[in-house]
Amino acid sequence: MKFLVFIEQREGKIRKASLEALSLARRLAGEPVAAVLPGKGVAALASGLGKYGAGVVYVADREDLALYSTKGYVGALDAAAKKESPDAVLIAATSMGKDLAPRFAARHDVSVLADLMDLRVENGRFVGSRPVYSGKARAEVDCGNAALQVATTRPNVFPAQAADAADPLVETLDLPAITPRARVVKVETSESKELDVSEADIIVSGGRGIKGPENWPLIKDLQEALGAALGASRAVVDAGWIDHQYQVGQTGKVVSPTLYVACGISGAIQHLAGMGTSKVIVALNKDPEAPIFKVATYGIVGDIFQTVPEVAKAVRAVKAE
Ligand SMILES: Cc1cc2nc3c(=O)[nH]c(=O)nc-3n(C[C@H](O)[C@H](O)[C@H](O)COP(=O)(O)OP(=O)(O)OC[C@H]3O[C@@H](n4cnc5c(N)ncnc54)[C@H](O)[C@@H]3O)c2cc1C
Repeated sequence: MKFLVFIEQREGKIRKASLEALSLARRLAGEPVAAVLPGKGVAALASGLGKYGAGVVYVADREDLALYSTKGYVGALDAAAKKESPDAVLIAATSMGKDLAPRFAARHDVSVLADLMDLRVENGRFVGSRPVYSGKARAEVDCGNAALQVATTRPNVFPAQAADAADPLVETLDLPAITPRARVVKVETSESKELDVSEADIIVSGGRGIKGPENWPLIKDLQEALGAALGASRAVVDAGWIDHQYQVGQTGKVVSPTLYVACGISGAIQHLAGMGTSKVIVALNKDPEAPIFKVATYGIVGDIFQTVPEVAKAVRAVKAE
């Protein structure tokens, strides 16, 4: 089975989610696979993809691909697909991937298996599963007899595995001039240098239980002790206690970290939709009936103003050993 993997980069750094998709393709194929890397000033990044499973990298390194446009990036993916004639295309289910995959699939008149948390190949066909009903159930999905199989993979679910490998072949894609119908004119990044919640391996989140924005230091102390990213429920975002970029959930970011610590968060279905697939969930809440305890691996019932500092202290003590 021939794979082509779309590689996303931001500001010259390959997204971890793309390396996860690439490693997955390499494992499923049992041999190095093809990858496509569009952007500006990205050619130098291609060789680093070899150890994650790329045998050949199609590079579209151009000024007009500096910022994402659906038409420009789907053009690059399409050009690589024409050269490679893959049976399957894998794209990480990031914001960019969720925009790109359906457009690419529509061009080829096939469907997308979206946001997969499990993917295997049976008789040359993709079979995967994806969360439905805000994460309450998993649906098993396949591509039927589609000539081209397209799937997006949920970030932080599949491991990115590096191994010793030869540098990949690098081919430059010759694309026609791009005339996007919509264009990004400006990107405003947050000034914070904090780890992005959607890429973090450990997340400590605060909810309405923190009582007010003046109490973030309580949560940040545990965040620092664990070396985690900061997350939040929508209630505290709507209250203006923290910026929307931290929101986890159905209308925020979907995360699958190794460890998710929920402090003073009730566990509403819309919050669970964003973090319910975390590998280990620790809930700190004073209400033993809070729904978050139904999904938690470990729970601590008590006032977070007492329990959170205790946990932070214990983490630091363990780390100091
Ligand atoms: C269409 C839609 C989309 C939504 N999308 C999202 C989303 O993306 N993300 C999201 O989070 N929500 C989302 N929501 C909102 C969601 O329904 C909840 O309202 C929200 O998650 C509640 O946030 P919370 O748990 O912080 O607050 P609450 O539900 O008020 O819970 C606060 C918790 O803190 C506990 N607590 C209070 N004081 C203490 C203390 N001193 N010590 C310990 N525990 C304490 C309480 O027992 C309670 O369980 C959405 C809602 C809708 C309708």
